[in-house]
Amino acid sequence: MATAAETTPKTDFDAIVVGAGFSGMYMLYRLRDLGFSVRVFEAGDGVGGTWYWNRYPGARCDSESYYYCYSFSKELLDEWEWSERYPAQPEVLQYLNHVADRFHLRPDIQLNTRVVSAVFDDASGRWKVTTDDGKRYTATYFITAVGCLSTANLPHYEGLEEFQGTWYHTGQWRHEPVVFTGQRVGLIGTGASGIQATPEIAKQAAHLYVFQRTPNYATPSGNRPMRPEEIREIKAHYDEIWKKARESMGGFPFDSIEKSALEVSPEERRRIYEERWQQGSFRFLNSFSDLLVNKEANDTIAQFVRDKIHEIVKDPKVADLLSPTNHPYGTKRPPLNTGYYETFNRENVTLVDIRNAPIVRITPTGIQTTENTYELDSIVFATGFDAMTGTLLKIDIRGRNELTLKEKWADGPRTYLGLAIHGFPNMFTITGPGSPSVLSNMPVSIEQHVDWIADCLAYLRAQGIARIEATQHAEEIWVAHVNQVADQTLFPLANSWYIGANIPGKPRVFMPYVGGVGNYRKICDAVAAKHYEGFEMAQAIAI
Ligand code: FAD
Ligand code: NAP
Repeated sequence: MATAAETTPKTDFDAIVVGAGFSGMYMLYRLRDLGFSVRVFEAGDGVGGTWYWNRYPGARCDSESYYYCYSFSKELLDEWEWSERYPAQPEVLQYLNHVADRFHLRPDIQLNTRVVSAVFDDASGRWKVTTDDGKRYTATYFITAVGCLSTANLPHYEGLEEFQGTWYHTGQWRHEPVVFTGQRVGLIGTGASGIQATPEIAKQAAHLYVFQRTPNYATPSGNRPMRPEEIREIKAHYDEIWKKARESMGGFPFDSIEKSALEVSPEERRRIYEERWQQGSFRFLNSFSDLLVNKEANDTIAQFVRDKIHEIVKDPKVADLLSPTNHPYGTKRPPLNTGYYETFNRENVTLVDIRNAPIVRITPTGIQTTENTYELDSIVFATGFDAMTGTLLKIDIRGRNELTLKEKWADGPRTYLGLAIHGFPNMFTITGPGSPSVLSNMPVSIEQHVDWIADCLAYLRAQGIARIEATQHAEEIWVAHVNQVADQTLFPLANSWYIGANIPGKPRVFMPYVGGVGNYRKICDAVAAKHYEGFEMAQAIAI
């Protein structure tokens, strides 16, 4: 007969991790390897995070496959083969499921379970975590791996509930196949998701209306199948590739460019932009060193993209409307595309300007703007996410003295290194605001954060330290530094989700750290080397 201990499910852990995407799965792998007991809670009914939820037509990564993956296991790198330069969503999801199986992660991941609250109990020094099924758990460490882009932004439109057709959000796509054949479809939003979905939906729909508030700078991905000789070459040089990515500005294994866009002739500049446009990838943004810090330099690349749009799009009025002028290139996350601008040459596609004629309401049969009414069978919201803070703030997180994260971040997020928060002991935020996260090739940033946290926990255990908390002073200095670095760039010139501008009422604070992935890593390593400078620690009390 089973004993009570065998039949009672375990509820107390060294660490509770929230989320089973790239971040949560690697965190589990590292902590379990160090001998910590871990439970990962995941709201979805599968692992994969972003790649589990974003199943819209055209969804694929725009970091190239050979560096949009984990680097921690040589065996994994050797055995996995990507089929395309930018794999589509099902393949990335398949990869993450393979990782879950390959490293036996599933037994410690509890699916279909949303963490609703996490409260630090000062007396016991433990986090008390409640899930949406009402169950309670405790842990010494509370680690969020909830993703920066995991809470869909569904704008409030009057009348949506009366819409008689079907509506979708790209970030919460249905699992059953969605077919738009023969339908009149309205797509709202022209960020990376809308730009990927547009060409695919246009191929199916009877008519596609793209409702655009702000045009974006979409540059070619250059997607194609991976070639066997290229795969061999990449696998033979992975050590150099990762070294380069880890030391770089953006987590991409690109050569660093020292030249200003303004120090070459206009002809040479165009030649370089053209060459990189043809190559595809974010190398285009990497054409010169000063594109994100010097407006005059940026104007040259922005104009190049606008010229390209006018070359591709046949109707000059549509081309004008598609050409961004209200923000510098790269200051909103620049999307890569496959055939986006060409799609507007199709007879079954109409671009609708909702900047000048905004949407007034959703009607039972479509969308009404101040100028027109569009009859629709389906509406696709490609309206993005409550990025970086939205998912964290949906959890009722309370630190010392019942301080809620909502109160703490009422005027915008404040963290130390994007990893820890004053007032919230023994809590860590993977890719939290104040870290490079969304401004980088994420797997590189995720692995760096996870490794730092795992090393920190091992250190605390070895030193007999029970509690660690970022000091207010360290946090203030870091927040000031994050702002100061951002102010030296062109990023604050755009109304982007990086500053929360896409969510009505959200505090306008520039959230990611733009000082560079390589520099940031050095700062984090130096903090650890100085025995976690900027953190207060308390010894465990011997009983
Ligand atoms: P996520 O993958 O978002 O996983 C977080 C998980 O936490 C989710 O599964 C969620 O369900 C779970 N969760 C959240 N709250 C709770 C809760 N309270 N309780 C339980 N579970 C919870 N980045 C790049 O670098 N390159 C790319 O090419 C790229 N392409 C992208 C394409 C799309 C369509 C999107 C939306 C993002 C893309 N990104 C890309 C960013 C991408 O989010 C990251 O690369 C990466 O997948 C993030 O992994 P993560 O584990 O940190 O977060
Ligand atoms: P997004 O970049 O925030 O774009 C949302 C779009 O919806 C914008 O065009 C926005 O217009 C519009 N919008 C938002 N609210 C609106 C409203 N109330 N009325 C009308 N229009 C509205 O979101 P996303 O496209 O989902 O991309 C988010 C991020 O996810 C990306 O930046 C990227 O980091 C990641 N991603 C990557 C890929 C990839 O290729 N690998 C694909 C998808 C997503 P405004 O610009 O005017 O606000």
